[in-house]
Amino acid sequence: MNESMNLAELPDELDRAAAISQAECDEGIAAARRALVGCTYSHCANCGDAIPAERRALGNVKRCIDCAQLYEFHQKQHGK
Ligand SMILES: [Zn+2]
Repeated sequence: MNESMNLAELPDELDRAAAISQAECDEGIAAARRALVGCTYSHCANCGDAIPAERRALGNVKRCIDCAQLYEFHQKQHGK
């Protein structure tokens, strides 16, 4: 019977997943600290798409590139 072995492996997988998400969280916090302003989202505040790590590294990133460009475009339209 290998079923008990398979069950024993499950917590390991969960631990690994938790460790990875914790690392991603720390990475986001570090990026935000470097920028010293606001906070960085892992997913776009507008469309919910994942924001690439290289973009998040800029800090204070809340939108994906497409939504950020749209946002800036509308900001300019409003004159401020
Ligand atoms: Zn977006």
